[in-house]
Amino acid sequence: MDETTAYLTGLRLSGRRVVVVGGGTVAQRRVPALIAAGAEVVVVSPEVTPAIEGLVGAGEVTLHERVFVPADLDGAWYVVTATDDARVNELVSRAAEERRVFCVRSDDPARSTALTPATGSAAGMTVAVLSGREPRRSAAIRDEIVDRLRTGVIDAPARVRPAGGVTLVGGGPGDPDLISLAGRRALMAADVVVADRLAPRALLGELSDDVELVDVAKLPRGRSAQQEEINRLIVDRALAGLRVVRFKGGDSFVFGRGYEEVLACREAGVPVSVVPGLTSSVAVPAIAGIPVTHRHVAHEFSIVSGHLPPGHSESLTDWSALARLRGTLVLMMAVENAPAIAAALIEGGRSASTPVAFVCDGTMPAERTVLSTLGELAHDIVAQQVRPPAIVVVGEVVAVAHPGRYAARPG
Ligand code: SAH
Repeated sequence: MDETTAYLTGLRLSGRRVVVVGGGTVAQRRVPALIAAGAEVVVVSPEVTPAIEGLVGAGEVTLHERVFVPADLDGAWYVVTATDDARVNELVSRAAEERRVFCVRSDDPARSTALTPATGSAAGMTVAVLSGREPRRSAAIRDEIVDRLRTGVIDAPARVRPAGGVTLVGGGPGDPDLISLAGRRALMAADVVVADRLAPRALLGELSDDVELVDVAKLPRGRSAQQEEINRLIVDRALAGLRVVRFKGGDSFVFGRGYEEVLACREAGVPVSVVPGLTSSVAVPAIAGIPVTHRHVAHEFSIVSGHLPPGHSESLTDWSALARLRGTLVLMMAVENAPAIAAALIEGGRSASTPVAFVCDGTMPAERTVLSTLGELAHDIVAQQVRPPAIVVVGEVVAVAHPGRYAARPG
């Protein structure tokens, strides 16, 4: 059969018997979609892969652990034959033909009465691509379409455009590839984007010209005045019926003041939703090759803001408690106060030889890691010209990642 003459359809298989002959990797790839469609899946094969065995154990498929007999197709609505023996496949497809049941022959699409398209779902749509002889090409085209649906580059026209409201989108640490699919979608559907300085700039270039872009860095100075201005702006635009995306670096709720915006929206009766982001506190060390935990080395990590120095009257951080912990400390907004923080940690009991890494401009072209210790960092920050934005990682995990640098330490 020529695939161009195939009649593409969607089968409702819920509660209907589907027989899969063969228990190898090809069968393994077909079975989950059949289960997902609610089919009553029966596998006939003397041997099956561990994955299929798992599905049998979980009661999701029935297994007949033997060779195929034509009577296996009695009562079946659909058949897939995926053995590596062409004679068996031929036997199955003949038995199916006799019973007028459609049969997919994985080894020979040309002799199949049914063809499995490459499928995928996104944005409430299911896409099926069929090219019979070129499965890789159909899979690639499927991927392209699904990707564009997901990211909102093409939109499903029947979908109701979301009404006005505010979406807080965490953009990740800076590399445009590190935003979530949901974040990208929200961004592409926005009428107004209110962006922070640390939000991934590269993504803003993809917005269409009619999208209003508000750069928060250009709003009047003074942190709390600025926040009030942002709250007012997002609420006003949303009340005017526009879809507002509040776009930030990392995650909106990790030192991002995101919840203040949620409260402002709620107070004004504006619908607000949140798309989490990859926080730079974890993602930036990871990209720089430093794990925040490691077996036998660190069983906890604490993420701490260093925007106030130890002893500051408004500080909520117990630095002496942090000094007594043995795990990893991840400091954000801490470059300026790092020397004072290091002194407090040493005073609280951490060794001056504790490894420290500054990862500056993480995931950006200018990314740079400066290695130091608690005892030496005050000097190294000046000597190496460490500047924000930087993630400061304090703890033995830094030495796990850079054993050579810390080999000659006492103790
Ligand atoms: N909400 C953000 C953090 C905002 S506070 C998040 O979850 O990542 C700003 C601090 O984040 C900076 O001072 C710096 O410590 C850190 N930071 C954000 N992006 C960074 C990056 N690309 N490289 C290094 N540090 C970064």
